[in-house]
Amino acid sequence: MQVLFVTSEAFPLIKTGGLADVSGALPKAMKSLAEFNGDIKILIPAYRGLLDQLIDAKPIASIQALKQSCILFSGQLPDSDVEVIAIQNDSLYDRIGGPYTDENGNDWSDNALRFGVLSRVASLLTRLDSPLPWQPDLVHCNDWQTGLTPAYMKLLDQVSAKSIFSVHNMAYQGNFNSDVMSQLELPLAHFKINGFEFYHQVSFMKAGLFYADQLSTVSPTYANEIQTESYGFGLQGLLKLRSLDLTGILNGIDTQAWNPSIDPHLIKHYSSKNIRGKKGIKKDLQRKLGLNADENAPLLGVVSRLAYQKGLDLLAPIIPQLVAEGCQIAILGSGEKALENTFLQLQQQYPDAISVTIGYNEPISHAIMAGADLFIMPSRFEPCGLNQLYGLAYGTPPIVSATGGLVDSVRDTNTDSIKHHTATGFVLKDITDASLLETIQTAITYWQDKKTWRKIQNNGMKTEVSWLSSAHLYLQLYQKTISSA
Ligand code: ADP
Repeated sequence: MQVLFVTSEAFPLIKTGGLADVSGALPKAMKSLAEFNGDIKILIPAYRGLLDQLIDAKPIASIQALKQSCILFSGQLPDSDVEVIAIQNDSLYDRIGGPYTDENGNDWSDNALRFGVLSRVASLLTRLDSPLPWQPDLVHCNDWQTGLTPAYMKLLDQVSAKSIFSVHNMAYQGNFNSDVMSQLELPLAHFKINGFEFYHQVSFMKAGLFYADQLSTVSPTYANEIQTESYGFGLQGLLKLRSLDLTGILNGIDTQAWNPSIDPHLIKHYSSKNIRGKKGIKKDLQRKLGLNADENAPLLGVVSRLAYQKGLDLLAPIIPQLVAEGCQIAILGSGEKALENTFLQLQQQYPDAISVTIGYNEPISHAIMAGADLFIMPSRFEPCGLNQLYGLAYGTPPIVSATGGLVDSVRDTNTDSIKHHTATGFVLKDITDASLLETIQTAITYWQDKKTWRKIQNNGMKTEVSWLSSAHLYLQLYQKTISSA
């Protein structure tokens, strides 16, 4: 089985969110399965600085895609045996800013071409005249940036290789003005409802959902949700039509990168057997963030994109009440300016109790995950969510809303679940500020009972959140896809 894993981000090379974590970890996990007989390579654009991070990067071929001349580089993903094929085209990818947006957060105006080229190269590599000696028989595409690959494979290249399209977030679809069609070399005849057209636009996401042989998404609950109007962002009809081809597989976590007993970002280490180090990390975190170093103050952690999806606007109005009740809150995130400013104002108002770090910061994210007592994640929708899984692994029980992967990974705490050793966190009844406040207050009552709290922490820390079982499920999906007619 030869698999090309196509992605627009992969940790530790480039990351804006959970997709990077999955892309950095799943290929590694797949290669470590005894049952996986073959190879899996990552295909990714060579953004600025990416080639320098690859181990032993060297040019291996040149390729022409959508009239763009590209050089393919090969190197190893750091700390792994996974080969990365990076597409170098400096005018498309060598830029200051993020993979999708410029420094001011505006989408790159040529994103259709930038990710059209990524999608096109993936398809070209499955052809018999590919410039590489290695040929995939399965292409695993991830999110809209790779959505045209299955369309190219079916419509232009008509290859025998199969494709899987995985949805990591339905909210981002890559819909572009129909003008881009000729640049993307998409056949006009398929600009229709049974094709890649979506409300008069070219939709990368729809192309992936329509043309891929199999579909997957990152949790079983989200797989059901996206077939409904509330979560399908207009594509629920197509998803329902293809429901027999759609599998929900919960993400795992990279237990090398996210493990409190070896995490290099932590000043102390701990495990479920010996959790003492967590106390010291909390104290250090409080000090570093300018909070009162009071071990009796429950410390709530937030690490997130500040987007409507994440529901953190529900946290802001209850902060005065939480502070009045003795809570501390450490927030790390960036996104919507209005919400960033609201949190910054609250920090000014309560400097001893609220800490707000605007930006993307890997070390602080680990320190918050380990140092906080509770992790807050009131998402309005959540395909899988990784932070609640990190919370479980770090003995920092998550407070989550009842949606998507959060439902599939966190068990609410109550008398029954404590008795049966299944309690791992706290689930909101409704996605409202009142429900969030009530759930946090309930969680703090449990936190004050140290013996029960240890049990809840232990249940979470013992939960299987590694990639092992999910990688098995992907392997089954790979096998099914390859053997399909
Ligand atoms: P999403 O992909 O929707 O943003 P996930 O929970 O699936 O949400 O994954 C988010 C990933 O990005 C996690 O690894 C989280 O720790 C990380 N992350 C989010 N915001 C920040 C930030 N400001 N600094 C560091 N890491 C962050």
